[in-house]
Amino acid sequence: MQGGREGSWKYARSTKTVSTLTGWLNHMTSNLKYLAPNSRPQMSFQPIQGKILQQGKRGISRVLVSAKIKRKRIVTWGIRVDKMSSSLVTFTDKDTYQNIFDPERYLHTYYNPKSGIFVVDGYLDFALKKLHEYFTTRGVKGKTLIDIGQGPTMYQNLSACEAFDEIIGADYTDRNREYYERSLRNEPGTFDWSNLIQKVCDLEGKGTSVEEKKQKLKNTVKKTLKCDVLKSNPLEPLVLPKVDCVISLGCLGYACSDLDTYRNVLKNLSSLLKIGGNIIIAEVLNCNSYLSGGKRFFSLVLTEEFMRSAITEMGFEIVDLEVSYRKYDKDQFCKYDSSLLVLARKVRDV
Ligand code: SAH
Repeated sequence: MQGGREGSWKYARSTKTVSTLTGWLNHMTSNLKYLAPNSRPQMSFQPIQGKILQQGKRGISRVLVSAKIKRKRIVTWGIRVDKMSSSLVTFTDKDTYQNIFDPERYLHTYYNPKSGIFVVDGYLDFALKKLHEYFTTRGVKGKTLIDIGQGPTMYQNLSACEAFDEIIGADYTDRNREYYERSLRNEPGTFDWSNLIQKVCDLEGKGTSVEEKKQKLKNTVKKTLKCDVLKSNPLEPLVLPKVDCVISLGCLGYACSDLDTYRNVLKNLSSLLKIGGNIIIAEVLNCNSYLSGGKRFFSLVLTEEFMRSAITEMGFEIVDLEVSYRKYDKDQFCKYDSSLLVLARKVRDV
């Protein structure tokens, strides 16, 4: 979709990039179920064209979206979005992450041991349990694991560090990589993961102490690298030998503006993996945005059905996939109904 045509692309012209409009249209069609209550919510709509017909005071007031539904029928929707416009979120690109994503505020909102959203609603316990299972009974192990979109969090590496000789962390933003490294060094003032570390030690049942686990993690995470999942080699300009495992928890759904990009990103990550290597992905489902540090960030609306088909199409065989429904659903910070953890094995290059 190219911007610039008089009238039709006003929205694109008034924002930074055309991809913003594309992202917005995808987002918009995902919201058709809210906008057009009589439409069938389970249908997967694929926007192919969109144009802004009128602009209201609070942004767009009327938009025309052509969408392709599964059976290849073309439908055209004229939608009034006056009431929705304030809750629509345009795609948050990587440079916005680089400029405004605040690790401390993110950690406080989502991982605070008492009030963190992912603590209260059960995501964190679910993820720790599944990761423990994958890295023990499911036998995921090897020499090198790359953690893509690590953010400032380390819960995702606590079981992994027992099963791999080295972990390479990777994220787009400098601040997140720096924060992760400072936490690894246990610098004063960084987020305290002790109670979660204790939980993982309990799951493992080997009597490992929190201090021992911290040391193990520090010895195993050898480096953190800049990465961009949107690039065909996400670690460009580095070219690493293919690894045994790639994990990406809570990143891809935020880094991709639409479902085709998501599929492509799976292919990009697959290029880092050996045939027979494992990929572990976590996503929140049916989520269109999340709040962090007073800013709203875009989230691509993902479903279990899409995840299953995209992962399979991109040359993986699903070994395990589990969806956990959230226990608490009242906050406005991150509206999602469930989270998904999947373990898949690379069976071919795509
Ligand atoms: N894994 C963490 C962090 C999630 S926040 C957790 O489970 O909580 C989402 C992360 O995606 C941020 O750290 C952000 O910097 C990263 N990200 C966004 N776009 C990216 C891109 N194009 N390439 C790599 N990382 C990206």
